Amino acid sequence: MDDSAPARAAVVETLKQAGDLDDVYEAEEGLSALRIMAEKKPDLVVCDLVMPGCDGLQFLRLKAAKPELATVPVLILTADAELEKKVELFERGASDYVRKPFDPRELVARVRVHLRLKLLTEDLEAANEKLYKLSCTDPLTDLFNRRHFNNVLDVEIARVVRYGMPLSLVLADVDHFKRVNDELGHLTGDDVLREVSHVLTKGVRKADIVARYGGEEIALVLTNTGTAGAFVLAERLRAAVEDLSVAAGGAIVRVTASFGVAVAEPKGDVTSAAMLIRRADKALYAAKRHGRNQVVMWGPELDRTSSPG
Ligand code: GH3
Ligand code: MG
Ligand code: MG
Repeated sequence: MDDSAPARAAVVETLKQAGDLDDVYEAEEGLSALRIMAEKKPDLVVCDLVMPGCDGLQFLRLKAAKPELATVPVLILTADAELEKKVELFERGASDYVRKPFDPRELVARVRVHLRLKLLTEDLEAANEKLYKLSCTDPLTDLFNRRHFNNVLDVEIARVVRYGMPLSLVLADVDHFKRVNDELGHLTGDDVLREVSHVLTKGVRKADIVARYGGEEIALVLTNTGTAGAFVLAERLRAAVEDLSVAAGGAIVRVTASFGVAVAEPKGDVTSAAMLIRRADKALYAAKRHGRNQVVMWGPELDRTSSPG
């Protein structure tokens, strides 16, 4: 980026001579450079400091306001040797500067350093994202894990009060799952668990969270869902599990699941994630007690009976 065509040509020529840096775009000032950056997604910008229109410092300020351009390094070409000026450039977000008139070897060497750093930064960000996803995921079912469930539920409980939307928690537990393992083996049990997880995930909205809560217990956090909606949904999920046929280990396996549901209402009495979980758990054990393969909604009467779990 430079308002002088000969100065631009000198930079372009230098980069093209380098061999692998020949995908170059030119701009006369900052605003058109930003437009080109949005379209072409360059890896680095070589920028003059003094230009009519949007100059180098203004360009740095505008670029800083765009998060998608955060990792694009800017190398400033400047005739200014003053220390204050150089420090200011770095403070404004420049990655480096090269004195004008520049030596082509130095310009190319510095460009390469910053391209390398950019690549490393992007690799690191991608690796972090992958690690974060792993830290939230249950490896067997690919559902969210207990850790992520705990984090989400705490946040969602706080939102119930702040945004005035109800939240439902559904705990599902496969019925007599021990039998599946005992009769067909643990690997078949794993297959069944994966299929059940898949069916439950398919049955809810994208914004809902489905997590493996324990061994064969799955928790569903239904945002913006009150008692009526949660019951209808849990009942639909129950029927979907009942309808499921899993072909595993040379056999067709059928299972059912029991569901306990508790709801946090904006003006209700649920004050913590632990309290909501306790209620859903009581409802789940009531469903087990009453014969399994059914949905039970928590009600105050359940707190008067003790749960075996
Ligand atoms: P109920 O209807 O009362 O829930 O009976 P259940 O047999 O399902 O209950 P129980 O809690 O006694 O047994 C749960 C079983 O789930 C025991 C355990 O071996 C099995 N299980 C837990 N995690 C896994 C897993 O990752 N894979 C497999 N295959 N089985 C698991
Ligand atoms: Mg079970
Ligand atoms: Mg269980």
